[in-house]
Amino acid sequence: MAIHSRRGFLGLAGAGLAAITGECPLVSAADTPDTDLVVVNANVYTVDSRVPKAEAFAVQAGKFTAIGSNSDVRSVAAKGARTLDAQKMTIVPGFIDCHNHAPGNTLLYEVIVGNPFEVEFVTISSIVEKLRAKARETPPGTWVEGYFFDDTKLKDNRPLNIHDLDQVSKDHPVAVHHRGGHTTFYNSKAFEMAGVTKDTPNPPGGTFDRDPGGELNGRVTDRATAALNRIGKRATFTEEQRAQRDRDGLAYISKQFVRYGVTSVHHEGGNLAALQQVRARGDLLHRVSYEANGRVLDSMLASGIMTGFGDEWIRLGATSEHTVDGSFSERTMALSDYYPGITPPYKGNVTESQADLNAWIERVHRAGIQVNCHANGDVAIDMVLTAVERAQKLSPRTDARPKITHCTLINDDLVRRIKALGVVPAVFTSYAYYNSDKFVFYGEELMKRCMAYRTFLDAGVPAAAGSDFSPGPFDPRMAIQGMVTRTGWDGKTWGANQRISVEEALRVNTINGAYNSHEEAIKGSIAPGKLADFVVMSDDLFKVSQDKIKDIRIVRTVVGGNTVYQS
Ligand SMILES: [Zn+2]
Repeated sequence: MAIHSRRGFLGLAGAGLAAITGECPLVSAADTPDTDLVVVNANVYTVDSRVPKAEAFAVQAGKFTAIGSNSDVRSVAAKGARTLDAQKMTIVPGFIDCHNHAPGNTLLYEVIVGNPFEVEFVTISSIVEKLRAKARETPPGTWVEGYFFDDTKLKDNRPLNIHDLDQVSKDHPVAVHHRGGHTTFYNSKAFEMAGVTKDTPNPPGGTFDRDPGGELNGRVTDRATAALNRIGKRATFTEEQRAQRDRDGLAYISKQFVRYGVTSVHHEGGNLAALQQVRARGDLLHRVSYEANGRVLDSMLASGIMTGFGDEWIRLGATSEHTVDGSFSERTMALSDYYPGITPPYKGNVTESQADLNAWIERVHRAGIQVNCHANGDVAIDMVLTAVERAQKLSPRTDARPKITHCTLINDDLVRRIKALGVVPAVFTSYAYYNSDKFVFYGEELMKRCMAYRTFLDAGVPAAAGSDFSPGPFDPRMAIQGMVTRTGWDGKTWGANQRISVEEALRVNTINGAYNSHEEAIKGSIAPGKLADFVVMSDDLFKVSQDKIKDIRIVRTVVGGNTVYQS
């Protein structure tokens, strides 16, 4: 096994590196100086085609310095470096999640009515009970809300409805938010306070759903939820209390990420100051590509701050997802054909006009910021591509890597345009396993073109993994198993034509993720000069049965040479 050291590749990896990474002035738990390490007796999958497999590597000052055989690496290792005997366990690069809402404070402080991390069925009565308990300590007129609801993970075999939620309270507005984020279920009080009745027309881009008798059934989709969001009181916090909750929430979610071997996460907005404070206090264990929206994006546009600003711990990436249509899991994404078996005939929700989308993309693109749009259905993906093609014509920029979050339902023409524009899709990861119970709503013909990893990779499109947590669990093992088998928790297989190999799935979850944020020169593989982010796994994901990949134990997660999780 040939030695592969940083020295030998300075021309390749080293040159751009100093300029890209810089040195970080803050010291966190994850970047203390004690980062000299030699790992031996390992079964290393590097995701680096120059040296795909190795048994050892050395880490110095938080970066990989040498990769090769035990003896070769030992011979070049720094004096006094700690040695870690991996006992033949498997090591892969740290996993990268390119779309995550990182809702740490929701997990910490709110009523959770479903299992955020795994497939678990709950009862409607358990949801009602949890919310009743919350209502007892909540003043009338103030919202009582539940999170992480999943409509297809109910033991009751019937949908949650307005009558269930009326049992929670008649004095409080009650909402149960689907983990997908595009639909919410309300009680009668909430509708009454909002002045919404069975006769209220649906607004553009949303629906107040009705039962067969024409009465409100409690479910409200996409833009229609705005009418209800306006009413009712919510618990109020001082500025400092809010900041404290944000910090504690981020520290909490960071622990969860590294527990699953996720070392880099693209955050959809969130409190940027809190993120920096959590890092300063030593509780940021994973690296963040921060995707800005609202005030932060406005300030970037106003002050000329572009994508790439920051360092290897917190860097400004693409924008946060700019939403163009509805949801895949909640069946509101914009399709060119009617949804199978739905009355009245329904094609999903487009939530923005082409003209508004054109203007937004042009403004962001011209400012040197990587655009990022949420588009699930083929109609929405077409709209985004049209707007990006227009912006590129008006203001050509190479290597812009426009990002399409989800990019779920494709066809040949869309893929051709995606390739031509250099679009980087962040495609659902855990859904093939976790959400297999929802694919019946689309049917096999559409599922052959959904979450189309095979098609993307064959076309040379570097599709990356975007769990969309909270909508989907972010566990990369569950993700890889689903990409490889396309078989869900219920044993059903959908769109088997889109299966990819374990090797490809590993690339999707590592190096393609690094490429998604223009960081492939510093992370995504185990290679000299790159950040020493890696995961030790109990079993070899290439050798275990493919339906057991999700059960492999994460033994250790290392970020920048420091162990941030150990089982
Ligand atoms: Zn999202």
